[in-house]
Amino acid sequence: MLKIQNYINGQLTAPISKQYIDNYDPSTGKVYSLLPDSDELDVSQAVEAAKKAFPAWSMMPKDNRAAILLRISALIDQNLERLAKAESKDNGKPVSLARTVDIPRASSNFHFYATGILHYASHAHSMEDTAINYTLRNPVGVAGCISPWNLPLYLFSWKIAPALAAGNCVVAKPSEITPMTAYLLSELCIEAGLPPGVLNIVHGYGHKVGSAITAHPEIPLISFTGGTKTGAEIARVAAPMFKKLSLELGGKNPNLIFADCDYEAMLSTTMRSSFANQGQICLCGSRILIERSLYEKFKADFVAKTKKMTVGNPADDNTKMGAVVSKQHMEKILSYIELAKQEGGKILCGGERVMLEGGLADGYYIAPTIIEGLPYDCRTNQEEIFGPVVTIMPFDTEADALKYANSTIYGLASTVWTENLTRAHRIASELHTGIVWINCWLLRDLRTPFGGVKSSGVGREGGFEALDFFTEPKNVCIKLK
Ligand code: NDP
Repeated sequence: MLKIQNYINGQLTAPISKQYIDNYDPSTGKVYSLLPDSDELDVSQAVEAAKKAFPAWSMMPKDNRAAILLRISALIDQNLERLAKAESKDNGKPVSLARTVDIPRASSNFHFYATGILHYASHAHSMEDTAINYTLRNPVGVAGCISPWNLPLYLFSWKIAPALAAGNCVVAKPSEITPMTAYLLSELCIEAGLPPGVLNIVHGYGHKVGSAITAHPEIPLISFTGGTKTGAEIARVAAPMFKKLSLELGGKNPNLIFADCDYEAMLSTTMRSSFANQGQICLCGSRILIERSLYEKFKADFVAKTKKMTVGNPADDNTKMGAVVSKQHMEKILSYIELAKQEGGKILCGGERVMLEGGLADGYYIAPTIIEGLPYDCRTNQEEIFGPVVTIMPFDTEADALKYANSTIYGLASTVWTENLTRAHRIASELHTGIVWINCWLLRDLRTPFGGVKSSGVGREGGFEALDFFTEPKNVCIKLK
């Protein structure tokens, strides 16, 4: 059985403990590989390697750093099919999604920041003829990057690429639930000629490896994407050490649908924003708010379309809906469906585990689920479920829609469907989210600030914001006379 290895100081290495963790294929429920059960000793080794590599990497001309990152991007493209299949097997997502979204985006992340760093400039502030200030932006040293399982290589590379481009060395931990493509990336980094120690990937549990990265005194910066509870724990540990923190956390995103929307575009996009990646995208719209005059029509069409979605083998090219990531996560989602029923919700479709046949019989499949009849402030409508489960709710006025939309502790993303431009602008300014999509969803320009407000996070990724985060400004003031 394949044993995933850590990537430390340019080498693929076993964990110091020699212990491994079972890695499951969610489509079959069977163990198919092993990953290192690393601990703080492996993290310390990785930090030493990163510190050793830092002076040369940070002083390397940007063009040369960029060239190496572009080679990684090209190698991801060349290995698209292999990486897409690996991502699908590890995560349960349809291979078609991994092939068209996850892996191409991982390549783009490297490409974007390899070239972005060449255009990154710092400020100068003139005090007329008294003095001139210029601000240097230096890499911080060793960056800690911790990522989740829902978009494994996509989100892993979204952190690593800007950190490396800015001249930092990195100690990174992918989710223990989906380690495979990060492992394959380490092989590609070796092939691309990334100098030893510049990127170190330590596999294992969050409470061992993740917490060791967070607490390590020589990692002054942590970039984390994951659940809000874990984010709070990281903030608790990192705050007294005055670490720089970027936290991309959970969401409970509202979709606001007005009767004057482009109906067909709204309906097909709402199918995606509800169920893409089995609803396991932090940006999925899980609370669908519909203007009352459109409610019954939308409900009938949305339910009919959803009933036609078949859940199937993620490895099959035609599958649109695969497995959820783990048994534990499947149970969590099913428990929320039970909660919704207890809270008075009516299940319009789905609502149960799907049992496939043959080798897939023990896989973790859930039917896409639509629930109605719940108040906006019940737990089902307030807590993140992170699965193929959405609620639908009518609203009467714009004020009601905004009240429901803004009622949760989260504030990551929102989607508004209306052909009324004035209303679109008005609502966009009133929504308490870091991202607002008008008449679209998940349309991404990598230059834009990405992140949430309230319990959805602190800081922004994307564009020059990420390069600002991964560098420390130093102002130099020169008196002229
Ligand atoms: P978790 O918070 O459980 O885990 C995220 C990562 O943190 C994993 O690598 C995990 O390790 C690690 N970790 C766990 N405990 C600690 C700790 N004490 N110290 C340091 N690291 C730790 O999130 P999930 O993996 O379950 O991901 C789903 C969540 O991520 C959802 O809430 C989703 O909304 C959010 N998310 C947010 C995004 C955003 O951009 N805002 C994007 C995508 C997802 P382990 O491998 O052991 O779990």
